Amino acid sequence: MELFDLSGRVAVVTGGNGGIGLGMALGMARAGATIVVAGRDAAKNADAVKQIQEAGARASAIPVDVLKEDSCRALMADTVKAHGRLDILVNNAGMSIRKQPEQYTVAEWHTVMDSNLTSAFICSHAAYSEMKKGGMGKIINIGSMMSIFGAPFATAYAASKGGMVQMTKSMATAWAKDNIQVNAILPGWIDTALTRRAREQIQGLHDNVLRRTPAGRWGEPSDFAGIAVFLAAAASDFVTGAAITVDGGYSVLG
Ligand code: NDP
Repeated sequence: MELFDLSGRVAVVTGGNGGIGLGMALGMARAGATIVVAGRDAAKNADAVKQIQEAGARASAIPVDVLKEDSCRALMADTVKAHGRLDILVNNAGMSIRKQPEQYTVAEWHTVMDSNLTSAFICSHAAYSEMKKGGMGKIINIGSMMSIFGAPFATAYAASKGGMVQMTKSMATAWAKDNIQVNAILPGWIDTALTRRAREQIQGLHDNVLRRTPAGRWGEPSDFAGIAVFLAAAASDFVTGAAITVDGGYSVLG
């Protein structure tokens, strides 16, 4: 269907080499997009490219460390060099350091903020001129339930993910005139490497998530394929500045 067709589109997915990022990449690939997998781990990058190619799409890997501005800027330039255009940017790379606020060092605070929020600003900033030149663009920022709620172990993470939503709204208003839509996805609790580590660190997390999620299960990376295609495609051309929960009902349970 034309509304959801991504043929001829080029999408960069930071952290696209695993977890939610790969789930979104595979969805957009199946809708026809060429995917640039952008992560640090070369083996994970190569494996993700293989999976996307096996799904019948064009894909390549460009190594990036989103903590480094030069690396983010090179990612966008190299994408255009390799594929001729840049239509879709998914700011998905992220991490957490789980500690009580009083145990945080300032350096740890900056690592979380820079990995999750500043990186998304830099990548969007670096992608803007190419999207403007192409006459359209789609930026998809990955927030969290911590964009809405707080938790004792998540001071910096929640600050970064709350900031992601406000940055999304502001960029959406700034770039609507350029036909660039900027939206956020707020995942619930999803079974990935990140939350496997969290389950080791937070007592009772697995059962609490099952109890608290109306859908009665953890999310899977494949649950993000559909929303990524929607936000990357013409179907969402009048949707901008939105923060869409994909959480099995977690955030609306009273
Ligand atoms: P993963 O740990 O599987 O994925 C994180 C990804 O981010 C990896 O691909 C990793 O690549 C990449 N990454 C981290 N730091 C950097 C860096 N400095 N430079 C480049 N890439 C980096 O976890 P998820 O799939 O769960 O997380 C994806 C996003 O979803 C994150 O933003 C996370 O905060 C968010 N999220 C996850 C939830 C969940 O329940 N899983 C819930 C809400 C939000 P590499 O390994 O190559 O470094």
